[in-house]
Amino acid sequence: MNEFLKDVIKLKRRILVVDDEEINRRMLSKILSSDYEVLTAEDGDRALDIINSERDLLSLILLDLIMPGKDGYELLNIIQGDPQLRKIPVIVLTSEESAEVQSLKKGAADFIPKPYNLPDVILARIEKTIQLYETINIVKATQFDSLTGLYNKEYFMEYASVMDQFYRDREMDAVALNVNRFHVLNEIHGRNTGDAILRMIGRALKEYVYEHEGIACRYDADGFFLYLPHEDDICSALSEKITSLETGDLNNIFNRIRYGIYPKANREYAIHRRFDCALFACNSIKGDFEKRVSYYDSTMHEKEAYSERLLADMETGLKERQFRVYYQPKYYIQGEEPALSSAEALVRWIHPVLGMISPAKFIPVFEDNGLVSKLDRYVWKEAARQVGEWKMRYGFTIPVSVNVSRVDLMEADFVEEITSIMTDAGITASEYLLEVTESAYTEDSDRIIEVVNRLRSLGLKIEMDDFGTGYSSLNMLSSLPIDVLKLDMGFIRNIENSEKDLKMVELIMDIAGYLNLRVVAEGVETEEQYKLLKKTGVHLIQGYYFSKPLPAEEMEDVLKRGFLKK
Ligand code: C2E
Ligand code: CA
Ligand code: CA
Repeated sequence: MNEFLKDVIKLKRRILVVDDEEINRRMLSKILSSDYEVLTAEDGDRALDIINSERDLLSLILLDLIMPGKDGYELLNIIQGDPQLRKIPVIVLTSEESAEVQSLKKGAADFIPKPYNLPDVILARIEKTIQLYETINIVKATQFDSLTGLYNKEYFMEYASVMDQFYRDREMDAVALNVNRFHVLNEIHGRNTGDAILRMIGRALKEYVYEHEGIACRYDADGFFLYLPHEDDICSALSEKITSLETGDLNNIFNRIRYGIYPKANREYAIHRRFDCALFACNSIKGDFEKRVSYYDSTMHEKEAYSERLLADMETGLKERQFRVYYQPKYYIQGEEPALSSAEALVRWIHPVLGMISPAKFIPVFEDNGLVSKLDRYVWKEAARQVGEWKMRYGFTIPVSVNVSRVDLMEADFVEEITSIMTDAGITASEYLLEVTESAYTEDSDRIIEVVNRLRSLGLKIEMDDFGTGYSSLNMLSSLPIDVLKLDMGFIRNIENSEKDLKMVELIMDIAGYLNLRVVAEGVETEEQYKLLKKTGVHLIQGYYFSKPLPAEEMEDVLKRGFLKK
């Protein structure tokens, strides 16, 4: 019943009692009539007439299951099959326990056992059910996500809080699901396939929550939330469900889904907050394709608190210049002796309370919040200024590369910013390099390519960072505007022991040669690795074997020496 109608008939809410036995109709009418206006029907057909004519006025239907003609089950099916009628709650009247479960499965809101000897219990159940449904129906925001047919996020949250009120003692799990690199699926297979995948996941989730008395929604493009009674291993049960629906083109989708589960979510937190926690768990394994599930727990809680602290302290940190730029030299290794060639600017946070913090800890936090641009601009300026200063002092310098986040590339004035930084510092495009992580290219490639092309036309060289961790195909690689491939550390780590990894590097060298790209290997720690890499033809090396990232003063010493003692 909608708000407006409720106002018009301020009187009593209307209940339809459907039962073929007159004695039952009478008894229920008697119990209910002081609080409700009661309509009665003696069989299914008559009931259906009333339901159809009173559809907007009925607050509840009490339905006998066993009747001659159209019985209760049939009626329940009809009601559930009509999106308008489905809004009216149905309580089933029955004397059989097995019938209760079955009718609940068919969409009944509750059941009342016969005979009716506890009027207060009956009244309480009825009131509870009406309240529940009214609260749900009030949320009129377009309830459903049109692509998957799941609830939308607003409705879902509202529904979840109502569930909390009604099932106070149940332990509930808040679950967040996300498809890894969904945009890549979209780009490679097309939007239609992308949509089909989302619909398939939607269907699996819908069936699953239906069977487990929970609810589900799509909260953004490729993300889903579930709220349901606690279970120990939701993930594998869901995996079975999803796998069972996969067909032809849509296989192995399950392997692409990551789960964040907040088990037995704390009810003292608002519902949104509980899902933030599930999402936090889910995002904590973003990019780590080995891990599918992450549980929100106390350590994660601490981690979250830590992230919040970092976010809160960032502005002050910038103002008080707590961020320092370190420089890690890169050496050209294909000559007789390794020769200093350039350096990478890497930021560190010297926090007054927490001490020195690694960028691996705070960059991802700032990236999630878009704050990274502010920090990056600071680092770019500082690195450019430093190069300018060395140039003034020594009359020569080496190029320094700075890291560029995906977020930076989306900023409208990115190219202008870089240009003005170089001008202000008095350095040229040959003394400044940009590192763009491989995954940035796979996200919004057209836009990234356009921006990167403009930078290259200014004479800047672009390195593709973390190469091998993203998904760029060979095809893509040949059309990307880059100058240098920076091999991810993962390739180097086992190169001494793994024939396969070594072969991989050799293969990449072939490709790079064909595409006329230079290759940097980073994370080189041992002499053995260095020698192997030299043999494969890798041009440049960066890593602890030569030097850790150094504060500016120490980098200056290296610069003066021009090469390393080693
Ligand atoms: P990255 O760009 O891949 O940088 C290389 C990381 O590897 C650096 O970690 C470096 O210290 C480390 N590393 C270098 N040689 C070795 C080695 O031989 N062994 C090992 N195990 N590690 C080595 P760092 O400085 O902690 O930076 C981590 C990441 O943080 C960077 O990865 C980069 O993605 C990001 N980052 C650092 N500074 C900035 C910045 O100013 N802006 C942005 N957007 N990101 C930054
Ligand atoms: Ca880098
Ligand atoms: Ca890297």
